[in-house]
Amino acid sequence: MTLAIDGGTPVRTEGWPSWPPPATPEQRELLLEVLDSGAWGATSGTKVGEFTKAFAASIGAPYGVSVVNGTVALFLALRALGVGRDDEVIVPAYTFVASATSVILAGARPVIADVTPATLHLDPAAVERLIGPRTKAIMPVHLAGAPADVDALKGFGVPIVEDAAQAHGATWHGRPVGTLGDAACFSFQSSKAMTAGEGGLVVTDDEAVYRRLWALHNVGRSIDGGWYEHPDVGWNLRMTEFQAAVLLPQLGVLDEQLETRRRAVEYLRRELPLEVLAEPAGTTRSSHHLALLRYEAFGGRSKADFIAAMAAEGIPLDAGYRSLSRESALSAYTELLPCPVAEAAADSVVWIRQSMLMSDESALADIVTAAAKVRKAFSSRVQ
Ligand SMILES: *Cc1c(COP(=O)(O)O)cnc(C)c1O
Repeated sequence: MTLAIDGGTPVRTEGWPSWPPPATPEQRELLLEVLDSGAWGATSGTKVGEFTKAFAASIGAPYGVSVVNGTVALFLALRALGVGRDDEVIVPAYTFVASATSVILAGARPVIADVTPATLHLDPAAVERLIGPRTKAIMPVHLAGAPADVDALKGFGVPIVEDAAQAHGATWHGRPVGTLGDAACFSFQSSKAMTAGEGGLVVTDDEAVYRRLWALHNVGRSIDGGWYEHPDVGWNLRMTEFQAAVLLPQLGVLDEQLETRRRAVEYLRRELPLEVLAEPAGTTRSSHHLALLRYEAFGGRSKADFIAAMAAEGIPLDAGYRSLSRESALSAYTELLPCPVAEAAADSVVWIRQSMLMSDESALADIVTAAAKVRKAFSSRVQ
C-alpha cells in the first residue's frame, strides 16, 4: 500500500479528542459564580482554598498551596526546603526543561543525571555518581504519568521534590504520587491531566514546609499575620478563583479518565509493532499522560521520517524531549555532561499524547494500522 506521504490514501482522516475535554455544565456554573461574585482572587474568594484542600485530600496529603503554574510550584518547593544559592539539585535528563529551570529560578544549580533505559526515569546509579556535599535536593520526575522510584532515592538522605506535573492520580505500591517525597508539585497547564489553562500546586506532609510555602507564595506574609506584615521575602504567586472553579469538577472525573487511558495503553501495548515503554515496576497506577514508544529504525529510516509518515497517515505523534544534556542554554548554569541513555531516547522515543489516549478503540486501531503500514513500507525499501 502506498504511504500517504507518497500520495497514497491516509489511514485516518477523522480528528482526535480535544484536550481539555469540552467544558461541563458544572464548570460553567462555578466559573459564572466566581465572575458574578466579584471575588476573583484567592484572598477574597473561597474556591482556591476549597480546591487546594480537595486536591490534597484526594492524595492523602495534609497540606497544599495552589500557585500560578507548575514551574513556580517547583521553585517554591525547592525554596521552602531551603534550596538556594550555591546549592545543587539533581534532575533527570529526560524531562521538560522546567524541571531544570525551576532550580535556576531558586538560585541553585541543576545537576543533570542520566535515566534508566527501560523506563527513562531518573537512574539512582547516576544520582550516586553526581551527589556531593552541595546536593540539597533530588527531583525525580513522574515521567509520562508513571511514578519514579522515589524509595530508591531516599537512601541518599537528601530532601526529595517530586515533579508530579504529569502524574495526577498515579500511585506507587498503592501510595499516591505527591506523598512519596518531602514535597511534590503538580501542573494544571493546558496539556496536563487536570487543567485550567495554567496553574500549579505544591503538597507536603510537613507543617513547617507548608508555612514557608504559604509565605513564599503570598508575598512573605505569615498565615496568622497581618496584610502589611512580611516577615519573609516572598512573591504574589497565587492561583485565581477562575482557575480553581475550572479545576474543582475535574477531581470527580479523573479516575474515569485514567481508566480510559489505561485501557488505551494496554491495547496499544498489545497491538502496536513498536515497544510501548514499561512503567517502573512498583507502579500501581499511571496517569498515562503520554505513551512512550521506542522507534527501532524500520528499514534504517529515521525517527523524523517515521513521524512525518505517520502524520501523513492522520496520526500526529510527538518527537518529545531532546535531553537536558543537549539544551545549550542551560550551559550558562551547569556543566552539560553527556547523558547517553537520555540522548539515545531523544533520537528514538516517540510520544502518543494524552488526548489521543482518550480515543475509542477504532481510533486506536488506526494508530496500529498506520504504524504497521509505515513499518512495512519502510522495511521493503531499505536504502
Ligand atoms: C508541565 C511540566 C512542568 C511545568 O509546569 P508548567 O505548569 O508548564 O509551568 C514541569 N515539569 C514537567 C515534567 C512538566 O511536564
